[in-house]
Amino acid sequence: MSSEPSVNPDRGSSSAEVPAWQPPRVSRVGAGSSPQVEKALADVRSKIYPRSVSGIFARWRVLMVVLTQLVFYGLPWLQWNGRQAVLFDLAARKFYIFGMVLWPQDVIYLAVLLVLSAFALFLFTAMAGRLFCGYACPQTVYTEIFMWVERRIEGDRLARIRLDEQPWSWRKLRLKVSKHIVWILIAWWTGSTFIGYFAPIRELGMGLLTLSLGPWQWFWMAFYAFATWGNAGFMREAVCKYMCPYARFQSVMVDDDTFVVTYDHVRGEPRGGRSRRVDHKEAGMGDCVDCSLCVQVCPTGIDIRDGLQYMCIGCGACVDACDQVMDKMDYDKGLIRYTSGRAITDGLTQSQVRKRMFRPRVLAYMAILSLIGIAFVVSLATRTTLRVDVIRDRGVLGREVAGGMIENVYRLQIINTTESPLTLTLGAGGVPGLSIMTADHGSTTVGIDPSSNRLVPVVVRAPAQQVKPGLYDIELTAVARSPEGDETVVVERSSFFVPK
Ligand code: SF4
Ligand code: SF4
Repeated sequence: MSSEPSVNPDRGSSSAEVPAWQPPRVSRVGAGSSPQVEKALADVRSKIYPRSVSGIFARWRVLMVVLTQLVFYGLPWLQWNGRQAVLFDLAARKFYIFGMVLWPQDVIYLAVLLVLSAFALFLFTAMAGRLFCGYACPQTVYTEIFMWVERRIEGDRLARIRLDEQPWSWRKLRLKVSKHIVWILIAWWTGSTFIGYFAPIRELGMGLLTLSLGPWQWFWMAFYAFATWGNAGFMREAVCKYMCPYARFQSVMVDDDTFVVTYDHVRGEPRGGRSRRVDHKEAGMGDCVDCSLCVQVCPTGIDIRDGLQYMCIGCGACVDACDQVMDKMDYDKGLIRYTSGRAITDGLTQSQVRKRMFRPRVLAYMAILSLIGIAFVVSLATRTTLRVDVIRDRGVLGREVAGGMIENVYRLQIINTTESPLTLTLGAGGVPGLSIMTADHGSTTVGIDPSSNRLVPVVVRAPAQQVKPGLYDIELTAVARSPEGDETVVVERSSFFVPK
């Protein structure tokens, strides 16, 4: 930040006509062009050089970058029960999340998780706008990291603008190549880490070091690295402004009581440059010195003084910049601040604004979110860790075998979702004298490995003299014992056929 706020007389006029939360008005036109279309296309093409800024919200953004990246880069290296703590093993169709193993049958939990995320998004957007975008969205986080590298190598805003305008020289080439090498290294690390959530990361790391990865692993790593490099290095704010669907539908969740970055036009207008020595109130001026610093630091290149816009990601950079200007001018901070639109128009205090945040819509979101969240946690904690599905052998309905026994054949699909081996003792009831054994070894016990499934053919027999021809309802039971002595009982119903 410069020591004195620079006053830009060209930015003196207010352009408050741009309505809040609306995309640029690009009318549908034919081959001819209109000024709006030209302007929108020029906006897409023009490069933004955000100025660096310091302040409380800049520190929050750095903290969030550090926290989110510690989790993202560190999590796949964590071990749990001798395996990767978090692994979405698509090949084996199993998701490992710490002590939990989820199978395709558990897809309902994924669906509930998506519903929870949707309600959390509704809630946070209704309360605080695009706070997620400004502080935790991967696009923002990686753009922050890439911009930090860019600033370290090429300098701050003005130095970067000058460098880009210069003709190519050895210095320019050296700076640009250095920047891209660091970007590519970060992007490659990010891509490899992302793949490490879907394939064991230690094997991936070893394969990367020895250059022995398979073609698909190379492909996906390069794909995600390229996506990171492209999105954070080049696309940047264009993703937030033109590609992110969240930006487009958030307007339905935001209202006048939402806590968002807002320019206090009541206090700031009429804006204009002035000397610190001038009593601006006597001169009929507002607090905005029209220095344009709030625009220069904005990563999406917008002017928050034009009103709340859908391109604003709520990062607070303009708040920090403006607070520094207010400090230098000896004015109260908070000309741009996190507050609600109603607070500005109705002159509410911050505590009144915070109270109004908990309006009926927000309370309803909170109630629904809490209910689904509790139900989700309870059902996850009490989910069955042993599944037994009984499948009748359609080829052999029922037959008489040696020893005067009627025999029916079944297959048991057994899934052990725990990380301990289990021994199952099988039983059958519902018909006098009914017995069960495995078809291959004639045993009543079955062993099943940790986190695995097994198809076990079994035969169920009943003495022919004790049953009349017909179809009987029976119950097959599996009592599982873990090495720790925990017992789980599963009872499945099926039918037993006695031929004439
Ligand atoms: S709102 Fe603040 S930072 Fe922006 S132009 Fe006015 S005084 Fe400068
Ligand atoms: S207007 Fe302010 S809060 Fe919104 S994106 Fe720009 S700098 Fe961030």
